[in-house]
Amino acid sequence: MSFTELPKVELHLHLEGGAPPAFIAGLAKEKKLDISGIFKPDGSYDYRDFWHFLEVYEAATSTLQTPDDYKRLTLAVLEESAKNGVVYSETFISPDFCGGRDLGAWREYLHAIQEAADEAERTMGVTLRGIVTCIRHFGPEKAKETALCAAETAGDWLVGFGMAGDEKKGKPADFAYAFDMAREAGLGLTVHAGEWDGPDSVRDALDALRPARIGHGVAAWHDRHLVERLARENIVLEVCPGSNVFLGVYKQLHDHPIEKLRENGVAVTVSTDDPPFFHTTMTREFEQLNRVFGWNEEDFGYLAKEALDAAFCDDVTRAKIRKRLEPADV
Ligand SMILES: [Zn+2]
Repeated sequence: MSFTELPKVELHLHLEGGAPPAFIAGLAKEKKLDISGIFKPDGSYDYRDFWHFLEVYEAATSTLQTPDDYKRLTLAVLEESAKNGVVYSETFISPDFCGGRDLGAWREYLHAIQEAADEAERTMGVTLRGIVTCIRHFGPEKAKETALCAAETAGDWLVGFGMAGDEKKGKPADFAYAFDMAREAGLGLTVHAGEWDGPDSVRDALDALRPARIGHGVAAWHDRHLVERLARENIVLEVCPGSNVFLGVYKQLHDHPIEKLRENGVAVTVSTDDPPFFHTTMTREFEQLNRVFGWNEEDFGYLAKEALDAAFCDDVTRAKIRKRLEPADV
């Protein structure tokens, strides 16, 4: 079985976090920025631990300064997705980094990203949609401004609103206003929770913000009632196993609860989060799930359908992608 060619649907991918190191190195050279210290001799990103990872991530993303940089970034990221058999992807983008939450500037960035997405759909066969993400540790006031940018640009392409950042800062309820604004604009909702913090962080996010999906959410496994609730309410988890293992949330994939969550009726999907930073790809995620849990082609087919059902795109797009998940000769 070729894991590369299996059609894949990815729901949890930070656009900046998908930046191939060679692309960032090239951009730094053009702009005469010296960030050579963040690369290993083989050209991959180099860091020692989680805190150093944050520094390297910040240095890498400091090269992204204009709408055109984001257009090129989007193409570079989608090229990697297409190479790994991804047919549909949703990416987190943030007005905080694209124009400093100024609506006019945000529209320019969004336009550039969308142009790249249209081009990639034509030339590489991968469909992209956007999810605006507020940054939790920037606080609720900034999240409101971010949500306003999202609400004003919601539509066929900008389909969701979410929250990333340090999940131990503030309470989900502090962000209810921002999420209400996004909900009223018709955006699908997702919240990062239960990655570093415990099951309560997932429960609080569900109660206060009523998202359809949770980013990570794996800590829910430690609370039986919460697992039952996720299954009952059909809350979809955007699980990123490689990211969790790389950052040390779990020591090895064998210890990861993805298989147990699935067995207990929780809707799980698989994504890469910040793939080159965690030395992973969608293909590699599939290979590892096959090696450790024995997931086969049928499991991966079901996984892709589950992810597509949970995608925030419109139904016309969903139907179009669904056809691509079916074997060609049927
Ligand atoms: Zn994430």
